[in-house]
Amino acid sequence: RNNAEKFEFQAEVSRLMDIIINSLYSNKDIFLRELISNASDALDKIRFLSLTDKEILGEGDAAKLEIQIKLDKEKKILSIRDRGIGMTKEDLIKNLGTIAKSGTSAFVEKMQTSGDLNLIGQFGVGFYSVYLVADYVEVISKHNDDKQYVWESTADGAFAISEDTWNEPLGRGTEIRLHLREEAGEYLEESKLKDLVKRYSEFINFPIYLWASKEVDVEIPADEDDSSDEEESSETKSSEEEEDAEKTEDEVIEKKPKTKKVKETTYEWELLNDVKAIWLRNPKDVTEEEYTKFYHSLAKDFSDEKPLAWSHFTAEGDVEFKAVLFVPPKAPHDLYESYYNANKSNLKLYVRRVFISDEFDELLPKYLNFLKGLVDSDTLPLNVSREMLQQHNSLKTIKKKLIRKALDMIRKLAEEDPDEFSNKDKKESDVEKSIDNDEKKGQYTKFWNEFGKSIKLGIIEDATNRNRLAKLLRFESTKSDGKLTSLDQYISRMKSGQKDIFYITGTSKEQLEKSPFLERLKKKNYEVIFFTDPVDEYLMQYLMDYEDKKFQNVSKEGLKLGKDSKDKEFKESFKELTKWWKSALASDNVDDVKVSNRLDDTPCVVVTSKYGWSANMEKIMQSQTL
Ligand code: ADP
Ligand code: MG
Repeated sequence: RNNAEKFEFQAEVSRLMDIIINSLYSNKDIFLRELISNASDALDKIRFLSLTDKEILGEGDAAKLEIQIKLDKEKKILSIRDRGIGMTKEDLIKNLGTIAKSGTSAFVEKMQTSGDLNLIGQFGVGFYSVYLVADYVEVISKHNDDKQYVWESTADGAFAISEDTWNEPLGRGTEIRLHLREEAGEYLEESKLKDLVKRYSEFINFPIYLWASKEVDVEIPADEDDSSDEEESSETKSSEEEEDAEKTEDEVIEKKPKTKKVKETTYEWELLNDVKAIWLRNPKDVTEEEYTKFYHSLAKDFSDEKPLAWSHFTAEGDVEFKAVLFVPPKAPHDLYESYYNANKSNLKLYVRRVFISDEFDELLPKYLNFLKGLVDSDTLPLNVSREMLQQHNSLKTIKKKLIRKALDMIRKLAEEDPDEFSNKDKKESDVEKSIDNDEKKGQYTKFWNEFGKSIKLGIIEDATNRNRLAKLLRFESTKSDGKLTSLDQYISRMKSGQKDIFYITGTSKEQLEKSPFLERLKKKNYEVIFFTDPVDEYLMQYLMDYEDKKFQNVSKEGLKLGKDSKDKEFKESFKELTKWWKSALASDNVDDVKVSNRLDDTPCVVVTSKYGWSANMEKIMQSQTL
């Protein structure tokens, strides 16, 4: 085109597009759900803006918040149109030419090796999946603040933008035209598209229409001869009486109908989804499969895995809201990357069915950012800005309840797992019930391996729920036999007279098992917890006690193992030796030299003071790893 401006894709985007174009990835279907998801996002945005500015939606068709899919079989074009916010020229250049989100290069890297495009939507580059099925794509867009533009590209490293002077005006919104590749003909089949929308886009909250053909019986005028006959017959009607008299039986049979029935193809908008807000339904009526599908669409996680757990509830009282929370089957690759900088709550906030934001970090504490889900509140005001909403008092109450429900859900995950017997007051019947549930077997270990670190970070950060979180803690110990165990289990195994919970920190279980600090404890049959994750050192600075038992690091001063009558005697008889020893070692090397009751074979150990850092912590601080 004459007036087209040419642009080059950001190198990263070009690389991604090359991979997509040359991909042998078999599940090309994913492009449709990405386009529908973008259309839905765009509709969410305009609906949100219209809360404070009614005018913005316009009137008539423009105000209809819907998605339309149309096929042109002859030209092999599939188009998807929304009446969403649209894109200005600047938006088109920025959004469809560069990659905003970080972590994309990690994705590109991964795709090059695995070829799995399923997670593309999670990386903020879903749009480019159009090139799985199309070799030429046009994006026609009209934003309220700009003219209508066409973005186009054949994925050859460049794209062009022109002011649109030839297409029908969109009013507002975006139409994506995919010029399908030869081998992508299946996407011109209506049945295929219906099937895909059902499968992947069922939970989109805007109506999705397909311009669908329909075979209908229509009555058309009978052919020429017939109609002339008809005319004749009507002519004869004028002399009815006469005719009646003369009418023979034959004449009546010969009389032909005025019209005849034929099949004809007509087109009409067919609604493909029923726009049901799953969270408004009674949890009893929602099937497991529906929750799973809802999770997939919410999390843009279209792997075949089910979420590990979910909780669907209604909160009543001062602040009313409905919520659905999910524990994903897997942690995202970057969950703990830049943990302290990123505000990445994965909850979508709705107010009275209207999507407000998925960037509200006030809804959940950081350590629960691995949860996916949605909150819909009737209490929050609708017609205020995001910033004002963010400060609304109700959010604190919502947050508190969400945390409580989330922790309950995780606790249940453990309780229902037949491999877990951590809950000491678990009823016999509960255990039995879960035993025949194979699916739940080992699910808590799976949870722990994916998200255990989050629970530990929670103990560090959330003093209010520290005890609840400590209940969810799992670790190995000198008695756990290579399996994970819990604090409740530890306590149930404590020796009579044992007051403290013993633990030791280090870099690996193998290293710790050989530690001289354990000699005596092992011999006396005390259980010692192994903490081998760097975060554990921080954790134990916050976790002081559990169920009235203190935690004692066995490599630190203050270890008490029951009373031994000979302790005092020993202390007395070695007094001279310890005194000499202390003076022999300069005082800035050691604080004190004492007779120990923690050793068996090893002659002596260096112990850290009660309030100082453990030797392991010293190492961690030196390497500065968390
Ligand atoms: P993501 O949706 O995760 O941001 P995409 O690659 O799917 O990533 O889309 C990139 C961006 O392009 C979107 O963030 C949005 O700004 C813009 N965009 C895509 N499709 C539309 C659309 N139908 N209407 C308005 N903007 C769109
Ligand atoms: Mg997208």
